[in-house]
This record gives sequence, C-alpha cells and structure tokens, in this order.
Amino acid sequence: MPISFSPDVVVVGGGPVGLWTAIQIKTTTNKEVLVAEKYAEYKRSDINLNIRPHSLRGIPQCEKLQKLAKNWSGRVVPIKEMEESLIRCANEVGVRILRGNQVDPNQLRNQFPTAKVFIGADGAKSSMRKELFGDNYKFNRTFQYLIQVQYKIKSPREAERKKSLRTSINSYRKLCYAGHLITENIRAQENGESRVTLRIFIDKETYFQMAEAKFSNPYYFETDLDRVPKKIKDILIKWWGYQEDLEIVQTPKTNKITVIPLYAYATKAIVKTSSDEPVIYALVGDAAQAYPFFRAVNNGFLLGTKLAKCTAEAFKNLSTAKNRNLPVVQQTKQFALPFNSYSRYAILRAHTERIKVYIKNLFILLSDFWIKAANTSPVKIIKLDSQKKRSLERGQKIWHSLSQSTKIAVVS
Ligand SMILES: Cc1cc2nc3c(=O)[nH]c(=O)nc-3n(C[C@H](O)[C@H](O)[C@H](O)COP(=O)(O)OP(=O)(O)OC[C@H]3O[C@@H](n4cnc5c(N)ncnc54)[C@H](O)[C@@H]3O)c2cc1C
Repeated sequence: MPISFSPDVVVVGGGPVGLWTAIQIKTTTNKEVLVAEKYAEYKRSDINLNIRPHSLRGIPQCEKLQKLAKNWSGRVVPIKEMEESLIRCANEVGVRILRGNQVDPNQLRNQFPTAKVFIGADGAKSSMRKELFGDNYKFNRTFQYLIQVQYKIKSPREAERKKSLRTSINSYRKLCYAGHLITENIRAQENGESRVTLRIFIDKETYFQMAEAKFSNPYYFETDLDRVPKKIKDILIKWWGYQEDLEIVQTPKTNKITVIPLYAYATKAIVKTSSDEPVIYALVGDAAQAYPFFRAVNNGFLLGTKLAKCTAEAFKNLSTAKNRNLPVVQQTKQFALPFNSYSRYAILRAHTERIKVYIKNLFILLSDFWIKAANTSPVKIIKLDSQKKRSLERGQKIWHSLSQSTKIAVVS
C-alpha cells in the first residue's frame, strides 16, 4: 500500500468506534491520524443503534463532534446515518481515511514506520486481536440466540400506532398467543409504509438450523421462506394472524430473516507496549469487548473516548521526555504510562457490563417463562379462545400468500 503520508496514529477499521476514536485523537493531539478500512463502502445497514446519553459523555470540545453527540443522544440512530456523519466529521477535522485497504497486523510497523499508536478497531472478528493479542479472553460466552425478522407493512391505523394501555394489553396478549418472547419495533416511513423489526428469542438448536442466515447472507421472504424451521413458521403465523388488517408489502431484497448470537466477551489484555521504543498497540470497540442486548456500541464509544484521552496524554508525555533529553527507555516508559489507565478503565467497564448482562439475561429468561406459562395455563388470564381460530386462519393465509410468491420467485 504505497502512501505518501506519515501517520502518528493508525486506526485499523473504519466502523463507528474506529472513526469516533480517530476524530477525538485528531482534535486533542493534532497529530496525523490515519484510519485504514478494508471496504470501499461500509457494509452494514438495517441496524439501528440505541444510543444512550451516558455513552457520549467526556468527549472533547470539538464543535462538530459535540453536534453529532447532541443529535444522537437518547435516540435510535440507523448505523448508516451514524457512519456517514462520522466520515464527514472525520474529513472535516483532518483525519485521513484510506478505504479499500485490508491491513495485515503483522505488517503494520513496516507499512507505517512513523506511527507510534496502532489501534485495532476492526470489529468482532478482529485480526488485530487475533494476531497481536492472541485472542485471549477474560470471558467469552453466548447468552442468547435471536432471529431478526424485518419487513414492510402498510402503516397501521393511527389508533393502533398510539401507545396506550389498550395497545400494551393487546401486545401482551399477542405475545402470549405466540407463546414466545418477541420484541417488535415499528418505524413509520414517508411513503405510508412502516418497517417492522421483530426479534424472536430462540433456542440453540433452532439457531443452528438457520445459522447460515447471516447479515451478509439473509433469508429473503421472496426466495427463502421455505427454509425457515417449522417452530419459527408457527410463531410467525400466530404473530401475523393476531393482527387484523396486516398487509405485508413484498418488495425484493427488503423483507428478510437473519440470526444473531448474543454474546458477551472482553479480551484479557487491551494494550500491548514495547519495551524499547515508544510504540503502543491498543484495542477498542467490538475488537476489545462486546455485550448483548444492544449495548456494544455504547461501550465502544466510552472506550474510544478514554483511549483518545490516554493517547493525547501519552504524546504530551513523550514530547516532555524528549525536551528533557531523557534516554529512549525513559521516553518509552513515559509514553506507555497513560495507557495503564485505559487498561484499568476497560477492566472496570468489563465488570460493569457483565453484571448488567446477567441481570438483563435473567429478566429475559423470567419473561420467557412467564409468557410460556401464561400460554399454557388452564386459568384464562388471557381470553384468546374466541379469537384463536380466526387468528390462526388469518396467519396461515398470510404465510401461504408469502410462500406462493416464494415459489413464483424460485421458478422465474
Ligand atoms: C443486528 C445488530 C443490532 C445491533 N444493535 C445495537 C444497538 O442497538 N446498540 C448497540 O450498542 N450495539 C448494537 N449492535 C452492535 C454494534 O453494531 C457494534 O457494537 C458496532 O458496530 C461496533 O463498532 P466497531 O467500529 O467496533 O466495529 P464494526 O462496526 O464491526 O467495524 C469494524 C470495521 O473494521 C473493518 N475491518 C475489519 N478488519 C479489517 C482489516 N484487517 N483492515 C481494515 N479494516 C478492517 C470492517 O470492514 C469494519 O468496517 C448491533 C449489532 C447487530 C449485528
């Protein structure tokens, strides 16, 4: 990769956390910061990130970044929107982004001999973590498995959209009828349609039956509905059938099903120092830690903010050590010192998030148990019997019409 640029900091991976960290390092140090991203375009879409105000705290007084944070705080932000605004912000503050460059962690020093800080922000399958930190984890466990079903519908009537006690009771009844823990998110779009995201908690066996339905290779309604396991088909028939007037809009490559394992992990080490020169390797974002139940990017932002602060302090220490003509060994020590604080912070975050994950997981298990119990209880907590038959017929009709279009798509 021949480039006429001598970066002081190289961030491997131009996802949200890599860019977030790079922008903060650039604004606090004014050093040359390079982000190397393997794809020409960011691949993820259809992910909505729930951004908690707490995870945006402590960022530097950079007007552009502050504006972004204000705009996202407490909101659900589509990942594409987030990525685009971060790229704009990075360009404005002077971060260089090299797109279409897959970095080999073992070649980093040769490629960027001037760089003193190398940051692995290359996501959950991080090669930086694997090659430089040996893929060692403090903990690494899958808590739950999810199926995500995304589709378009004709927008529900105004009365149904409003959150009221009645709609909450109705949603609860729908859950009990489906007999499964499901979350539903409906986002209205400008054209009178709405985008629905269903997240269904499933068992390991069902997950492995559909394990190939990844984000990069989803099951589309128009081609793959016949591959969906019966268990999931039955749940969807009930869920769809319970809703009167539900109209699913069939548009190619829009309605899809994917599976997601919800895991929690934290690497054992997050910083690697060199003993004979001021050079640091650090991990951030999903490369370092990830937590289920949609907390990962928030934790990534907190780690990124802390890492940027420590990097700024390290460069300050280095320039003081150089001005005092300290030997290289001393310069190296002074440079590495602030990153101890990053390591401690990462440990604290790992413990905090792990506890939260256990609590949330327990809540999910109890809710699932309750829904299943309510579904089978002889005591009629929910009066569904009168509706049951009609709902089932309606759901089967919807499924049938969707799978008819599956057959047409396959034949043509
Ligand atoms: C369905 C779904 C829903 C989610 N919802 C939420 C939510 O609501 N809240 C939440 O907090 N989190 C959520 N997450 C998690 C969130 O998307 C991630 O935590 C976040 O994207 C992590 O950002 P990152 O920058 O660390 O990694 P990534 O977004 O994975 O970016 C890593 C980047 O590194 C690049 N890369 C990889 N290897 C190399 C290499 N060798 N050289 C150069 N570039 C490389 C990749 O191309 C990629 O662009 C969700 C995830 C999924 C899958």
